[in-house]
Amino acid sequence: MQDILLESIRTDEGVQSRAAINREYVTELAELLTAGKRLPPVDVYRDGKEIWMADGFHRLLAHQEAGKRNIRANVHKGGRAEAAWHSCGANKNHGLRRTKDDLSKAIKMAVELRPAASTTLIADHIGCTHPRVLQVVNIYNLKRPDKVIGKDGKTYSSHRKTPIPPWEAQAQDESANQGAPPPPPPPPPPPPPAPRVDEVGKPIPDHLEPLWDRATAALDEIAADLSRIRRLVQQDAEASEHVILDGNHQAITAALQTALSAIKANLPHAVCPYCRGQAPMQEGCRACLHTGLIGQFRWNNAIPNQMKT
Ligand SMILES: [Zn+2]
Repeated sequence: MQDILLESIRTDEGVQSRAAINREYVTELAELLTAGKRLPPVDVYRDGKEIWMADGFHRLLAHQEAGKRNIRANVHKGGRAEAAWHSCGANKNHGLRRTKDDLSKAIKMAVELRPAASTTLIADHIGCTHPRVLQVVNIYNLKRPDKVIGKDGKTYSSHRKTPIPPWEAQAQDESANQGAPPPPPPPPPPPPPAPRVDEVGKPIPDHLEPLWDRATAALDEIAADLSRIRRLVQQDAEASEHVILDGNHQAITAALQTALSAIKANLPHAVCPYCRGQAPMQEGCRACLHTGLIGQFRWNNAIPNQMKT
């Protein structure tokens, strides 16, 4: 371990694997230094000419902010490329937790630095999952050789048969915890079937549906029959010789319309608001005559308004 002059350490030319510096964290570390605390040594690489920063960019800035001249460092042998590779794997176990952007940048850097390394080897070095590496390779369309070297030193094909969906990569990835977009929402369940309602908009209880259906079918039949009779009366009125000899055709047609209205007025219109349609199971609801349903005429004329809400 050595004390290195801050200004002699190079942090440029792509050795930094973080996507962004967290200024708050730098200040936090600088306050520790000012209070007399010591930070863990940083990691640098020396190639004889330059000293390259590899791990400890926040600590270096904190030393600058605290007005220090030197920083304690583990000095490794190597140049810019070695420092950059080291930087990609930094912070997997210590320091400020990497953001998702940090992780993406580190993966991209590592793949570009060691194109022949397998994605498994890269994932191991970075400290992330294999699908996450594949995802970054796909997103940035990074060039991959046909054959890659695995972490066991063997040669493998770099082509994977099925692409990894981004949410799968994120779900498996425990290294990035910030800024990850949520997985796509599951498709919404089909809407439940709309409840059947009476003519005032109240739901029809299941046990009353058969009666309601019979009434609807009966009305259709009656209306069809009446309209057939009306047509016959109309035809007779227009014929040169009448069968309905003395009749007033208009009066008969009007009577047919009245009959239809009278039937309609007595067919089920609304679920009984007194027993809420439960009368067939319970005794004693006189409002609906124990049917559970109220016809239109009685609904309009006999049911008080306060019961209709
Ligand atoms: Zn009732």
